[in-house]
Amino acid sequence: MARLHNFSAGPAVLPVSVVEELRDNLLDLNGSGIGLMEISHRSKTYQAVVDGAVARTRRVLGVPDDYTVLFLQGGASLQFYMTALNLLRPGEQADYLVTGTWAQKAIKEAKRIGDAKAIWDDAPNHFKRVPQNGEYTVRDGAVYLHYTSNNTIYGTEYHHRPDAQGHPLVADLSSDIAGVPVDIAAHDLVYAGAQKNLGPSGVTVVILSPWAMSRVPDGLPAMLDYKVHAKDGSMYNTPNCVGIYVIDRVFAWMEANGGLEGAIARNRQKAGTLYGELDRTGFWRPHAEVQSRSVMNVTWRLPDEALEEKFVKEAKAATLDGLKGHRSVGGIRASLYNALGQDSVDALVAFMQEFERKNG
Ligand SMILES: *Cc1c(COP(=O)(O)O)cnc(C)c1O
Repeated sequence: MARLHNFSAGPAVLPVSVVEELRDNLLDLNGSGIGLMEISHRSKTYQAVVDGAVARTRRVLGVPDDYTVLFLQGGASLQFYMTALNLLRPGEQADYLVTGTWAQKAIKEAKRIGDAKAIWDDAPNHFKRVPQNGEYTVRDGAVYLHYTSNNTIYGTEYHHRPDAQGHPLVADLSSDIAGVPVDIAAHDLVYAGAQKNLGPSGVTVVILSPWAMSRVPDGLPAMLDYKVHAKDGSMYNTPNCVGIYVIDRVFAWMEANGGLEGAIARNRQKAGTLYGELDRTGFWRPHAEVQSRSVMNVTWRLPDEALEEKFVKEAKAATLDGLKGHRSVGGIRASLYNALGQDSVDALVAFMQEFERKNG
């Protein structure tokens, strides 16, 4: 079996050792004699998996003890609505930094609940950067400030924590959670679909401060109510059992490989290698402005679309998969998530140099 170099933006590459562990436990979960997809989520064996996943999430990400960790369904896309539904009352204000497609979707859902406002919006500049502190003003009455830490589609990322100007901070961390430094304690609510850095699709990590939990109104529909999910330890209904298992194993893999610090160092190295090639010659046209460049999703254009198509096709033939840019940006996108090795980036850069030599 030949696994390709997988630069997909999500679902994305996972550590081979985790996939092998999953394969074995599909047949027999931790020696229980029952397979992972077949075991009751109410069994002791499975409860230990969830407990382990919560504990590892806390350890690796440095989650404060009084914060709540949940594994929910519906993706980050449901959290766009659920965060507003739980934190905001009709008529109340929430401010958003709109740095890409996912942020646009987040504010759209929040507007269903309250007075959600884009206090910074880079759409006219085609989302080439994120704001620096001081470029926006959070409204006095804003209940929270929401931002998207990494813009998966455009390839931009904050390299500082946005200043919430004294207001609670809410973040969509879907595509760089566990890949870059993060101070969870400085946030009141963060969420992340697992399918970029943490596991398979269909499970979303949500982390809430005591303040966030205290904001949840009574009487919400059960599946949209953080208090209901917290009370039942993410098992109000049948959870994504396989997804939570994989998250636990991915965090265990991180702990065995230098923890969050190790991942950060490897990601910087990988991104440095690729941006080094993008800056080497004018043949490549990087999308993001330099100070906002993402370490997780690297986006660039070629001189014309025909060359871009050729690039993607020939890359695939050279075992480099998933490089076609999102349709809203076009061009090329290489996602360098935690489980992608430096060897894959080296192979990509070697291919790029050869491609430029032939077509430049
Ligand atoms: C992928 C992604 C989403 C969407 O996640 P789903 O789990 O598909 O809903 C939202 N935000 C960001 C930043 C993403 O990268």
